[in-house]
Amino acid sequence: MSTISKGYNGKILWIDLSSNAITEEKIDESIYRDYLGGYGLGAYIIYSRLKPKTGALAKESILGFCPGLLTGNPAPFTGRYMVCGKSPLTGKVVKDKVPTMLGGWGDSNSGGYFGPAIKRAGYDGIFIIGKSVKPCVISIGKDPVKIESAEEIWGKTVSETENILKSKFGQSSQIASIGIAGEKLSLISGIVTDGARIAARSGLGAVMGSKNLKAICISRRNKLPVFDNKQLQSLTQQYNEDLKERYSSPSTELMAQNAPQIAFIMRWLRQGVKSNVNLHAKTLHKWGTSYATGISSELGDLPIKNYLGAGYKDWPQKIAEKFSGQYLLRYKKRSYGCFSCPLQCGAILEVPEAGLEETHRPEYETLGAFGGLILNEDITKTIRVNHILNEAGMDTISAGAVLAFVLECVEKGLLTREDFVCKSYPNGFLPTWGNPDYIFPLINMMIRREGFGDVLADGVRIASLKIQNGSEDFAFHFSGQEPGMHDARLVPALMVAYEADPTPGRHTTACLDYTAQGEIDKFLTGYTFSNSDNPFDKGKAQGVFAKFLQSINALGFCEFALWMGEYPLIEIIQAVTGWNISIDDLFEIGWRIQTLRQQFNVRENALEIEPKKNRLYGYPPLQQGPLSGKSIDEIQDLLAGYFDNLGWDENGKPLETTLLNLRLLQLGEKDEK
Ligand code: SF4
Repeated sequence: MSTISKGYNGKILWIDLSSNAITEEKIDESIYRDYLGGYGLGAYIIYSRLKPKTGALAKESILGFCPGLLTGNPAPFTGRYMVCGKSPLTGKVVKDKVPTMLGGWGDSNSGGYFGPAIKRAGYDGIFIIGKSVKPCVISIGKDPVKIESAEEIWGKTVSETENILKSKFGQSSQIASIGIAGEKLSLISGIVTDGARIAARSGLGAVMGSKNLKAICISRRNKLPVFDNKQLQSLTQQYNEDLKERYSSPSTELMAQNAPQIAFIMRWLRQGVKSNVNLHAKTLHKWGTSYATGISSELGDLPIKNYLGAGYKDWPQKIAEKFSGQYLLRYKKRSYGCFSCPLQCGAILEVPEAGLEETHRPEYETLGAFGGLILNEDITKTIRVNHILNEAGMDTISAGAVLAFVLECVEKGLLTREDFVCKSYPNGFLPTWGNPDYIFPLINMMIRREGFGDVLADGVRIASLKIQNGSEDFAFHFSGQEPGMHDARLVPALMVAYEADPTPGRHTTACLDYTAQGEIDKFLTGYTFSNSDNPFDKGKAQGVFAKFLQSINALGFCEFALWMGEYPLIEIIQAVTGWNISIDDLFEIGWRIQTLRQQFNVRENALEIEPKKNRLYGYPPLQQGPLSGKSIDEIQDLLAGYFDNLGWDENGKPLETTLLNLRLLQLGEKDEK
């Protein structure tokens, strides 16, 4: 068979926006074998080419768009891409006379159709360096790659941008763009594709904005041959049929309909998170991630009132139900999903009450952040704010966390109505718990950096450094990143991911108990992960899972695949690439990727793993609800086990022997771009 029939292209595209130089670079097969694709390849390229200590928003900073190794092929659940670069949001703040930000490793993962479009354009990654003098758009069509003026779309929303570019370059073009938040360099801005799918975390929208790059538009569409197409088609068909059969069964339907009641019983029995592969498939297919809101609120997973409340009491089921998939179904117009996905968990809604003919169904994270976290009971406003934030390219998790922080600042008298006076709102307003009238004005001020919105547009850490007066105590973040809507007091091992992953504060990064939902042994049949309750051993199991998850991400998988039961993983990789690869190889590659991401933080002096005695850790413990009395006292043992397994020292710094064994020791010394 042809040597290029491997499901990937063997080359990346470089675009220097300062010099307008456009070059292709061949990538040796050995690099794919060591790093796969996605952020594995991205970390390798950026670590080895970025000059150490380059500012995240400096023109020399590198921004990578990296589809997974399997992305672009029909293999189920493999359509994702990752944006990679130095984060302007996470890392260490050195407090001198003027606080200085030392940015750490940043990446963000998204689905849709943009990742497959990169692969079909003939590249395994697009890397941007430099800064355009004027707003620009990169177009990758049949002709040579072009850098064109974006002056007519600068200032436009994401869907306006997509519509203009599609009418110019073709309706089937795939577009990644920033909204107004990215243009204004908000550190909680992301990069949007498919109208509303946002690579939201790590603040990489600001990196794109700092380069004056409004969008990348891909209309070129080549074939992407695989090693053994017949085998790939057969495996894919068999898997998809099996999944459909399982999520269509009547018993699963019955269980799904009664999930909130089951959650109530689980809370009463203090059973925590329990799951079932068929139930996951059913609920995600029918209701998307929004199915989880009522259940999470009931169990203590969803943070309530900036981590001070208890769902059943402060944001009870009758409210949570309106923020859940079952309720939102009444607005559903049609389903949608990512490339190569057999589940299609997304939906387009029509919500006349919100003045929206078409909008994307909010995800659980948004429903939580603009529901229980801020004690908002108005689902219509939440649907509308989700729409506004997606159009502006601002991270909904971080934006919701900022609102919760503001509400507590007002409650404690640190902010008053005068702080919320600006040109657009000359009379000002006062954000208070439970009254949703402030939500749109405040979000608009943040997106446009208007008035006090300028202080809030960079997330809770920067805001609290500016507000001071003790506000740092309830500005909840991990090294600058506001955590996902999952309370680690319910699942303490999640705190290892929040605290110590190279991209901290992320609910999707390597928590065996949470990210895998107890289903990993079913996905990866024949391999058993430890389920010890001993904190050190649990930490070690987190390390093992972190290694595996890096490979899963770098291959381009949606993490929901891990919840769906048995997957022909090795057979699929072999059918696409022709590689003879084992599960052990995937663990070693994942270990290399995770260690390189961490070593980036070490090199940039940005590593900041500092468990605090704060509310997130249960100090003081809550007095009521499913989390009452819970404190994460075992964090040091959890971290020690995690570091031990990964070959990192007690501070989370990779040991020299680990770097040597993973062939990372000299990486980057001779290879700066
Ligand atoms: S499950 Fe949802 S997020 Fe994951 S690939 Fe499918 S449509 Fe995309």
